[in-house]
Amino acid sequence: MSDSHNCIFCKILDGEIPSNKVYEDDRVLAFHDIAPNAPVHVLVIPKEHIPSLNFVDESNNVLIAHIVALIPKLARGLGVSESGYRVVINCGEDSGMAVEHLHFHILGGRHLPQKLG
Ligand code: AMP
Ligand code: ZN
Repeated sequence: MSDSHNCIFCKILDGEIPSNKVYEDDRVLAFHDIAPNAPVHVLVIPKEHIPSLNFVDESNNVLIAHIVALIPKLARGLGVSESGYRVVINCGEDSGMAVEHLHFHILGGRHLPQKLG
């Protein structure tokens, strides 16, 4: 099971592990993925340790709406607003989720393959 003490993203939030920051406010942090899959590959994470989408419910509505409204602003800043981008949330083993702290991938800067699964 996921716990915040062993969580890489919580360590980034605590400043224990460095990150290449794109944006920060009181609720979220956005930073460049360390192993990008596209010219633009940014992760948006809540500051609260939520292990995955499976742990999101209506009590998180304000946070999730904040992140979703933030993403197009980040995309504009990253220069992919017009060219397009993909937002991905992996959840659980079959998705390949590697870090058990809810995160939104923003991918863009090249034509992305149509295949999703
Ligand atoms: P996922 O497979 O959805 O769990 O995605 C986890 C992502 O976190 C991967 O794309 C990794 O490259 C990325 N990642 C892992 N460690 C770091 C780190 N220290 N800084 C930035 N990105 C990271
Ligand atoms: Zn965490």
